[in-house]
Amino acid sequence: MIENEIREIKIKNLERLYDYRQKLYKNPKLRDLFLEVTSRCNARCEHCGSSCGDKIIKDKISA
Ligand code: SF4
Repeated sequence: MIENEIREIKIKNLERLYDYRQKLYKNPKLRDLFLEVTSRCNARCEHCGSSCGDKIIKDKISA
């Protein structure tokens, strides 16, 4: 049955994901790094999750 085949594929994918994560836990590798020094950004993307804008909030930056 197709449901059983789909289930087996899902289980195999989950097992592969589990193995991949276990390898990363044992030997972590830095793949991406980004820094947000301020929240100032003039792009104004609709999807922005950082609440960025035109102004720099001064109390977030120490002298
Ligand atoms: S997602 Fe936010 S921080 Fe990124 S470019 Fe768009 S407005 Fe700027």
